[in-house]
Amino acid sequence: MTRQLLMIPGPVEVDTEVLSAMSRPLVGHTSPAFIETFGSCLDSLRDVFAAPDGQPFVVAGSGTLAMEMAVANLVEPGERAVVAESGYFSLRMADILSRHGAQVEVVHAAVGDVPDLGAVGAALERGAKLLAVTHVDTSTGVLTPVRELAALARQYHALTIVDGVCAVGGQEFRQTEWDVDVCLTASQKALAAPPGLALVMALPRALEAFQARKAAVASYYVDWSVWLPIMQAYQARKPAYFATPAVNLITALYESIKQIKAEGMEARWARHRRLSAAFKSGVAALGLQQVPVREALRAVTLSAMYYPNGVDASLLGRISTAGVTVAGGLHPAVATRTFRVGHMGVDGIGEIMQTLAAIERGLGKSGEGVRAAQAEWMG
Ligand code: PMP
Repeated sequence: MTRQLLMIPGPVEVDTEVLSAMSRPLVGHTSPAFIETFGSCLDSLRDVFAAPDGQPFVVAGSGTLAMEMAVANLVEPGERAVVAESGYFSLRMADILSRHGAQVEVVHAAVGDVPDLGAVGAALERGAKLLAVTHVDTSTGVLTPVRELAALARQYHALTIVDGVCAVGGQEFRQTEWDVDVCLTASQKALAAPPGLALVMALPRALEAFQARKAAVASYYVDWSVWLPIMQAYQARKPAYFATPAVNLITALYESIKQIKAEGMEARWARHRRLSAAFKSGVAALGLQQVPVREALRAVTLSAMYYPNGVDASLLGRISTAGVTVAGGLHPAVATRTFRVGHMGVDGIGEIMQTLAAIERGLGKSGEGVRAAQAEWMG
């Protein structure tokens, strides 16, 4: 069987060093070797999130669990929370907030757009413990202005939670500088590791809010009271146990983070920007329209596009036959009219070209997309 190139918005292609870390013999979670691996991974995550004063939490689970960890530790029943909605995953955040007893106000946006800052400000002015924002909405490819929204939240003394699942590691993000109290992600996206790890980075103000809680955290597994001493122990290179860490996944993440650090965050963000621009030029030359309604709202980590007139989801099968797996639509309002391509992680220009060639083949075209991408890439 020929191997498909995986170009969905997560999981993504991962490097062979990262893959081979998964198949190393198991080590104990309190062995000196693993303590060093996990401790170093936690230390390095501060660089990845640009959060030198951040407290990382890494637990077995997916991005949704990371969302739940952020919410469960910060809101108490009856408190108000504002969600700046930019698509499917903001609504999931609103559901999780409600489940944990928050009174949620969702500030909606049209598909492909972000909510008006004035409307978010008005919602915060009515009083809120926190504002939740999705940095990149994976259903629409929309990039939210996190920095501006976090500044707005601070103005109204609200905490900010950023869902960075489809962003951290690929999309420029500076947690401390942008004053984002909690940011969360998962291992399978721009961190370029296999799925299975939930990651949360909390700045001091978030931990203070957690410590000032009156109500117990409703979920046992995600409670920071149990995880904080564990994370601190690994950071101090000491053994500790609450629940068994995903040893091989953490080793794989360690390998990936080593590569991310070797590249450097600025260079990594710049590479992702260039790859994304090349891909977007290619699909524009093929006549495909992006879902984000303005250029400034186009995410770097993925592209969401409308099918051209007369084309439907059968295009995905033809792209797959040409060797590349891309994703269908997800946002209910446009799911049948859109498809999505992830270009984050370790992807290079070769993968971008291969993907464009497969899309061209699927559309019965030849060369226009690849040529436009090449022109953009070469500058
Ligand atoms: N938030 C965003 C922005 C996402 O893209 C995803 C996954 N596509 C999630 C949350 C949920 O992550 P997971 O599927 O790993 O639970």
